[in-house]
Amino acid sequence: MPAALLSVRGLTTVFDVPPRPIVAVDGVSFDLRRGETLGLVGESGSGKSVTALSIMRLLDPPGHITGGHVVFNDQDLLDLPEAEMRKVRGAGIGLVFQEPMAALNPVMRVGHQIAESLLVHGRASRRDARKRAIELLEAVRIPDPAARVDDYPHQFSGGMRQRVMIAVALACRPPLVIADEPTTALDVTVQAQILDLLRAMKQQFDLSLLLITHDLGVIAETADRVAVMYAGRIVEEGPVRAIFHNPQHPYTRGLLASIPGGTAGARLQAIPGMVPNLAALPPGCAFAPRCPERLTICDAAPPGQTAITDEQRVRCYLHQAAAGNDGSTNAELRARTGELR
Ligand code: ADP
Ligand code: MG
Repeated sequence: MPAALLSVRGLTTVFDVPPRPIVAVDGVSFDLRRGETLGLVGESGSGKSVTALSIMRLLDPPGHITGGHVVFNDQDLLDLPEAEMRKVRGAGIGLVFQEPMAALNPVMRVGHQIAESLLVHGRASRRDARKRAIELLEAVRIPDPAARVDDYPHQFSGGMRQRVMIAVALACRPPLVIADEPTTALDVTVQAQILDLLRAMKQQFDLSLLLITHDLGVIAETADRVAVMYAGRIVEEGPVRAIFHNPQHPYTRGLLASIPGGTAGARLQAIPGMVPNLAALPPGCAFAPRCPERLTICDAAPPGQTAITDEQRVRCYLHQAAAGNDGSTNAELRARTGELR
């Protein structure tokens, strides 16, 4: 098994807001292996972006990391001095956001923005930087890059701007790119082009990719493995094929049922209920109030993790029962899970 390029362990991020702190990321752990694309998926508000910002240490107060480890290239990023962390941003980990206008400087020519990144990280001389910027624009398939290099962000269409942002993210050849909803703001045709570009860039630049999205459809086409997030916790994790063909968490099954065109002829079913208020989570499984397969024990405490296979793990009492992890209530759980399958 290839070594992990990024290992997140027990990452916990809290927003200190009245009336009580919100735990937006609650003990999140996952590995991103070299050369793979890991999809991080969940409904809006599940803590995906806060996870990404925590990894990059880009959170603003009142948000702060209260625990865990983010090991990248054998260094815990949470222990690095800020000056070292600045080198990791861009040169070690590139970031692509949903909204390129927020990430790009509106009053700076795009070529200049790419060049800046190269210069800051000492990756090119001022003379070479412009040439490299044109090459990067060409790599992300911007037509006529030698002419477009002097344009401003607003002179590009939404899809082309997203390409520019990808060029900026790739400028210093980071081994890892975190793409947070990179196609969400785009129309469907352009979405497909950008996903295609990310796949091509992954090959060409030998990248590992953390692809964050609320859309399992995007994951199906792009990721190798998937981590499913709900209310700040990873509830299921596994290879894409397992997640799509053998989902074990009722939340994962709900997400799958809500993919347009997921199953031919099937009616689109949104998961009933709403993403919980993180300030008032239930004491048990956070999904229990919406769960069609809820057991009595689900309200008691959050479920632990159960391995389904070497590669697939789930946090759900249906499986703790099956794995016999929960002594006192097994009889009840077995009865209920038997009845449900
Ligand atoms: P996602 O990217 O999965 O849609 P986010 O990671 O952006 O979700 O946010 C997760 C939760 O973190 C939000 O639902 C909210 O409760 C909390 N949160 C995020 N940003 C802030 C903030 N600036 N102040 C207070 N709470 C926040
Ligand atoms: Mg987000």
